[in-house]
Amino acid sequence: MKKITIIIPAYNEEESLPHLYERLEKLISSMKHYEFEILFVNDGSKDNTINLIKEYREKDNRISYVDFSRNFGKEIAMIAGLDYATGDCVIFMDADLQDPPELIPELVKYWEEGYDDVYAKRNSRKGETWLKKFTSKMYYRVLQHLTNIPIQEDTGDFRLLDKRCVNALKKMRESQRQSKSMFSWIGYKKKEVLYDRDPRIAGKTKWNYKKLVDLAIDGITSFTTSPLRISTYISIPTFILLFVYFIYVIAKCIVTNTVVQAYQAIILLILFFSGVQILLFGIIGEYLGRIFNESKNRPLYLVNEYNGKKEMND
Ligand code: UDP
Ligand code: MG
Repeated sequence: MKKITIIIPAYNEEESLPHLYERLEKLISSMKHYEFEILFVNDGSKDNTINLIKEYREKDNRISYVDFSRNFGKEIAMIAGLDYATGDCVIFMDADLQDPPELIPELVKYWEEGYDDVYAKRNSRKGETWLKKFTSKMYYRVLQHLTNIPIQEDTGDFRLLDKRCVNALKKMRESQRQSKSMFSWIGYKKKEVLYDRDPRIAGKTKWNYKKLVDLAIDGITSFTTSPLRISTYISIPTFILLFVYFIYVIAKCIVTNTVVQAYQAIILLILFFSGVQILLFGIIGEYLGRIFNESKNRPLYLVNEYNGKKEMND
């Protein structure tokens, strides 16, 4: 029997957990051909979350949990889930039932058809403000523009990953993680499933705008070094300006038969030295970018099949 691990990061979710457990339990009992593991990652909750999880585990041996020493954030909770999962595939789910468990059979169906990464794309975003929708849309656009890897829009972390995707992700040990772009980076056979994202069942969102902006910056900077190029790009118009002004000053001197004025010389010097400085920053940025990419220590490539056998990345 194949085993499916459902990974649920939970941070202060005492209000949602009972609903979640009830709905998951119902669903799991209906999928008799699979063995299940429900893996909670308690991300340093300050409420009763961990005790609830322990209670569930006592009466239900399909439940296991990883308990963090403090709050590390959802991204780290997710990689811990991957490290501890024992299933043949994993499914990431939020604790607040925004990801309907009823979609799981469909995800599993595509997995059985041979897809490695079945991700749920939201049709609608009930219960989210227009500002959050708008910022998220703009963010995807910028990210897509800066990176060469196709990023799936309107997809959260709700997805099923085959064991070999799990193994691949486990090799990416960088500390400032942004799973969404990592899912894209690993590649493999992907399948999209549409669903309606429900509003949070209970409790409050654990996100605030600072966390979101941090995540957005991590997403861009962990994936591309293009912000480092800004400097190089700025130096180009500076040099063009220098060149144009230089021609203008010389031409004016020749035409009017005068010497170069002091202020003109100062402008030329300022343009020249700031251009040089910005360019040097850009060069340093280029090297920094390379060091940055190397220091991530990612595998250089991931193999899909070797001699007809699926590569498991372990
Ligand atoms: N979460 C976590 N650590 C955190 C913040 C959130 O493990 O520091 C979990 C949270 O318990 C939930 C999931 O990540 O299961 C998504 O969080 P939330 O619903 O608050 O985010 P939103 O859906 O509003 O983006
Ligand atoms: Mg939520």
